[in-house]
Amino acid sequence: MFKKILIANRGEIALRIQRACRELGVRAVMVYSEADRDAKYVRLAEEAVCIGPAASNLSYLNMPAIISAAEVTDAEAIHPGYGFLSENADFAERVEKSGFQFIGPTPESIRIMGDKVSAKQAMIRAGVPCVPGSEGELPDDPVQIRRIAKSVGYPVIIKAAGGGGGRGMRVVHTEAALINAVAMTKAEAGAAFGNPAVYMEKFLQNPRHIEIQVLADAFKNAVYLGERDCSMQRRHQKILEEAPAPGINRKLIERIGERCVAACKKIGYRGAGTFEFLYEAGEFYFIEMNTRVQVEHPVTEMITGVDIVKTQIMVAAGQKLPFTQRQITITGHAIECRINAEDPFKFTPSPGRITTWHAPGGPGVRVDSHIYSNYFVPPYYDSMIGKLIVHGDTREQALARMRTALLETAVEGISTNIPLHRELMVDAKFMAGGTNIHYLEHWLEQHKR
Ligand code: ADP
Repeated sequence: MFKKILIANRGEIALRIQRACRELGVRAVMVYSEADRDAKYVRLAEEAVCIGPAASNLSYLNMPAIISAAEVTDAEAIHPGYGFLSENADFAERVEKSGFQFIGPTPESIRIMGDKVSAKQAMIRAGVPCVPGSEGELPDDPVQIRRIAKSVGYPVIIKAAGGGGGRGMRVVHTEAALINAVAMTKAEAGAAFGNPAVYMEKFLQNPRHIEIQVLADAFKNAVYLGERDCSMQRRHQKILEEAPAPGINRKLIERIGERCVAACKKIGYRGAGTFEFLYEAGEFYFIEMNTRVQVEHPVTEMITGVDIVKTQIMVAAGQKLPFTQRQITITGHAIECRINAEDPFKFTPSPGRITTWHAPGGPGVRVDSHIYSNYFVPPYYDSMIGKLIVHGDTREQALARMRTALLETAVEGISTNIPLHRELMVDAKFMAGGTNIHYLEHWLEQHKR
């Protein structure tokens, strides 16, 4: 096992990784920007290094500053968390070239999965079902583009190979709009991602977002830890997640999980990863792979008892996966609500000083958050300030626990989206389970205020 790890992130995930390190007896070095100087996990750290000013590009995205921090503190490995540099293949490569272990997959795996065209091709080769579409990057010839769209069938979606965060996508309903839409998406992709390549997929009308969590070691052992339903989204951003996904045939999940495991073995995947799928009419369609720990990993931890972050560190240290697929069992149901510092219905960010913070508790309740009373939410980063996770024997019990937990939670001084979560937890359609990726946006439209 490592003696010392550097955690190249901030907020709740920095604290989550610090906790895993303490349990493993590994010293954790925290890095922080000037805006995060007062964070509790920084104060509680055995070692902490300031890596720059508040702006992310000068601190949490500053590769030389992070690598120097690892050098001066004698860390052996770097955990990138999620966001920031976590899916940056160049960073992973620089970390390894500087003599540190990157806690994640190889730079090559990150590179393949970071380009959605190459990711899709790798998945097709590995036997993972994908959304029907172009066989790779779209050609320049309008005649060929029209022919591809006709064979895929309208509506289609044009997607940037280098896209991410819900950006670089355009839905096309008619042939008349096609060529212009391709040109616009290409131009935007070139400007935003430095890569103008685009591809085409059939646009699925009412899918659910279902994803499979995997863990793999460096010895070609891999397991899947069931699925998560992340269909409750606004502008392609998840706001709450649950596991298992309500109403999906377990045999179908097993089959797709096994495909994901086979794909991991085939591409030599190492570490934690997520295969994201759209699910419609009983079929799964791969859309992308995330090569890092995800925000919503706790719901899987709650139903499997597996500590995903600790396992990530163990496999990065060269250990074998401590369990086989047969030892993974799913118990009960878990739900996670992302707590954001924002207006609950207008979604305008609400940074500032938290005057009161009262965390909920009781059986089956978990809070992953770095905030405290008198904490100042800096305006420079993502608005998520924590996650409320509950576990119950059944989905009904989990829902009841989440309602109780949301009722007990008090955050004063700033606005949060807790009022939105409270309403969603008593919404009849959500309570019935199985809402699709458009449900939340329609709901918000109907509940405008
Ligand atoms: P990103 O990397 O930007 O998150 P994804 O490929 O994961 O991009 O897609 C993000 C979201 O866009 C999906 O969760 C889904 O809501 C929508 N989407 C993507 N591809 C399709 C498709 N073929 N049909 C319908 N919706 C899609």
